[in-house]
Amino acid sequence: MKKQICILGSTGSIGTQALDVIQQHPDLYEVYALTANNRVQELAEQARKFHPAAVVIANEDHYKELSELLSDQSDIKVYAGKEALCQIVEADPVDMVLTALVGFAGLAPTIHAIKARKKICLANKETLVVAGELIRNLATQYHAPILPVDSEHSAIFQCLVGEDENEIDKILLTCSGGPFRLFDDEQLKNVTAADALRHPTWEMGAKITIDSASLMNKGFEVIEAKWLFGVPADKIQVLVHPQSIIHSAVQFTDGSVKAQLGVPDMRLPIQYAFSFPKRLPLNGERLNLFKHQLEFFEPDLEKFQCLALAFEAIRRSGNMPCIVNAANEIANEGFRHGRCSFLGMGRIIEQTMAKATFDASPDYEVYVQTDAEARHIARELMNNYK
Ligand code: NAD
Ligand code: MG
Repeated sequence: MKKQICILGSTGSIGTQALDVIQQHPDLYEVYALTANNRVQELAEQARKFHPAAVVIANEDHYKELSELLSDQSDIKVYAGKEALCQIVEADPVDMVLTALVGFAGLAPTIHAIKARKKICLANKETLVVAGELIRNLATQYHAPILPVDSEHSAIFQCLVGEDENEIDKILLTCSGGPFRLFDDEQLKNVTAADALRHPTWEMGAKITIDSASLMNKGFEVIEAKWLFGVPADKIQVLVHPQSIIHSAVQFTDGSVKAQLGVPDMRLPIQYAFSFPKRLPLNGERLNLFKHQLEFFEPDLEKFQCLALAFEAIRRSGNMPCIVNAANEIANEGFRHGRCSFLGMGRIIEQTMAKATFDASPDYEVYVQTDAEARHIARELMNNYK
């Protein structure tokens, strides 16, 4: 029986690479549903190629256009809206849900998929940043496996195979350092979104590329690792490793360190999440260690304020990571559209953390309120950080 996959965010960087993986294994995988936010044309093209049972466009304004584009495909159901995302993941035939959409929008459909006991292939790290404890508890309660797609977390997950009985001493989370690794404070003041969008080793969607330049992405990944692997944040060490060859490593109590290496290619962690515990063939470049000199550095928390703020959010816990995520979504978008500076992003997030209502033990409703409040505060602050 072919596994039926629902891809949330199929038109994005992860989504399209997942479709490439599926195409390489037509005997194993089938697309059940494809979804996007705005890119109607691309979604319709994907639907014509992969013949899913359903497509969902999250932005309802595009419903008519999508329906017209697929009017000759009577076997493909067309839906629109956020609610439809939550419903499609619950459909009976779905075996796996790949959460490849961006930001807080990933939280609600992931919760629905967990409650429907689907296997979650989690790319949307914001879900664990916002509500890691809630997601972890629900996944346990509903016996829904969560397989990491983020390359570092897939690496850690791969290092942990066969180690069920062994305690983790330390996680070594690697980080490329982004395009501004060697910039001084003066240079950082003037960088543009175009500069930040040129990532040295990975090609990704716009939001995560900016988060990688500010190192907020690494802060989020510490939170993600904490909830995925049940390891306290003080046992997760960030190592700047500019070559992006060691995707992360785990140290055990006997001092042994296991690492996972490979060329930077997201299709590998996507495929491993689909096929675990099996490994499947994957075409593409192979690692040639003769070509690389591997280096490691401490991250600079003064230069990269966003990483320091993420650590602060972990320390404060409760809804603080949710506040940081919301402020970051606003600041990140503002920077991309020239409404605030690169360093302004950190200032906006810092001040939003100080102003938003803190809750030490939030539930789902609190996360929704927190997200809305923090976005509102961050938007107001934006005007000061041009
Ligand atoms: P992207 O911007 O390339 O694609 C995002 C996809 O989600 C698109 O299909 C878009 O239509 C959809 N989408 C966006 N906002 C939405 C909303 N509000 N509601 C519904 N759908 C929405 O992003 P990406 O780089 O593919 O990243 C996707 C997720 O995977 C992010 O959480 C990111 O942090 C994570 N991730 C990405 C990479 C990577 O290499 N791209 C690596 C690790 C983790
Ligand atoms: Mg990553």
